[in-house]
Amino acid sequence: MSIIINKSNSFETSIPVVIVGAGACGLTAALSAREMGVEVLVIEKDASPHGTTSMSQGTVCAAGTNAQKRAGIEDSPEQFYADVMNKVNYKTDKELVKLVTTQAGPMIDWISDNYKIPFSVDTSWKGLGHSVQRLHAPPEKSGEDLLGRLLQATEEQGVTLITEANVKNLFASDSGKIKGVLVERPDGNTEKIGLKSIILATCGFANNEKMIKEFIPEMAGARVFTWENSTGDGIRWGMELGGIVSDMTSFQGYGALAHPHQLLFNYNYIIDGGFMVNQSGDRFSNEVADVSGQGLKVMEQTDKLAYIIYDEELHKRYCNLNESKKAIEVGAVYKASSLSDLSDKFKLPLSSLEKTLNQVSEYKQGLRQDPLGRNFLRSHSLKPPYYGIRVTGAIYHTQGGLEVDNNAQVKNNQGGVLPNVFAGGGVARGMSGPTCSGYMPAAGLCMAMTLGRIAGINAAKII
Ligand SMILES: Cc1cc2nc3c(=O)[nH]c(=O)nc-3n(C[C@H](O)[C@H](O)[C@H](O)COP(=O)(O)OP(=O)(O)OC[C@H]3O[C@@H](n4cnc5c(N)ncnc54)[C@H](O)[C@@H]3O)c2cc1C
Repeated sequence: MSIIINKSNSFETSIPVVIVGAGACGLTAALSAREMGVEVLVIEKDASPHGTTSMSQGTVCAAGTNAQKRAGIEDSPEQFYADVMNKVNYKTDKELVKLVTTQAGPMIDWISDNYKIPFSVDTSWKGLGHSVQRLHAPPEKSGEDLLGRLLQATEEQGVTLITEANVKNLFASDSGKIKGVLVERPDGNTEKIGLKSIILATCGFANNEKMIKEFIPEMAGARVFTWENSTGDGIRWGMELGGIVSDMTSFQGYGALAHPHQLLFNYNYIIDGGFMVNQSGDRFSNEVADVSGQGLKVMEQTDKLAYIIYDEELHKRYCNLNESKKAIEVGAVYKASSLSDLSDKFKLPLSSLEKTLNQVSEYKQGLRQDPLGRNFLRSHSLKPPYYGIRVTGAIYHTQGGLEVDNNAQVKNNQGGVLPNVFAGGGVARGMSGPTCSGYMPAAGLCMAMTLGRIAGINAAKII
């Protein structure tokens, strides 16, 4: 059992705001709550915080920011809202999307101005559901950089972080008010910590086979590329307390995971003119229509494999990105002097490969339209030497979760809210609707940090 009702009123210590999980959501919430002048404790299972946040590319979508203004990009929350709605065919929580699309921009400005996390617009990401460039990246364009800066900021602000502390149980009163948590240490010792309000920031359930089988059965057994502690703890606690969950069928997929190296490969190569073929040497989808859904399309190909093909010019553009460097270092990227060399390396039929390359070249010159629907017109025309990488698809993180209100407080099944429980990031329902195709690039961290900001303020306010 994970919720213990009406037992143990004696806690070894008590802290007003307790946050479970030191990822982007938990740490943003901690900064917010601390600004309100309350004591904040972040409890993290790992010895050193890492989470899904560190695995990410660190990009956050947001509209109307100072960074966009500096880059001469016109954007607004209304435009952002319209883009999200367009992507999900209006099948989402409109209130939540309104909240997040309105508050993401001010959140980015706030954190950039106050906490040495100077976000700038990553102009290499174009389209993919966003009608303008609104992906914001920290200086090193990586999740590790983002998490490192958040950890430093929370430490400087006097937030207490305890690590190697696995929250096993929550103590609740009959009315569902959380009174404390039970923390288990690696040596089996436990501690009881009292609290006044709690923020659940333990991410989603991508790494919980049982939950995947229950909620996304078509993905049972699929490759998962996520942080190991994404086992749905926060969502399960919320459900036990009577919180409502929605869009539990939704997830972010990705179709460009280097195989067999299990390394994320940048999509920029594809966006700028690269393309994907299967083992028959044929293209099988519009690669840029739906980055998340492309994961599923790759998993439908023979051996769940595909090959990204690009050239020297694109290699030069993006080889200094962190993920590119790692893929090159482990030998996942192959430089081929000719198409025949590429076909030998990956055992792809040369005749199909030549045909596919010629077709793509015709689409780029405007001689024919791509029957798969991709607009190649403004993308770079590939020339030898070519580059190739074998990739597979995977689930990155789940998008369904607890419904929250405009204060990021968890909604209950009686039409109200759980008295002192807040949630964000992977624990909360995202704005991607019910399928994997509604996920817009950089929406995961947008949800994590925006709801984290709101949850922190309101968790402190109710004390
Ligand atoms: C490869 C990859 C790339 C991605 N790239 C991007 C991107 O560029 N932009 C974007 O917007 N999104 C991206 N995402 C999604 C994004 O990383 C997540 O949406 C986001 O990090 C979620 O943040 P979080 O704080 O909810 O979770 P996390 O960062 O996972 O933090 C949760 C923390 O809770 C801890 N925890 C869990 N259970 C317990 C427990 N019981 N007790 C104590 N601690 C616990 C975990 O150890 C973890 O540290 C990517 C995801 C993946 C997998």
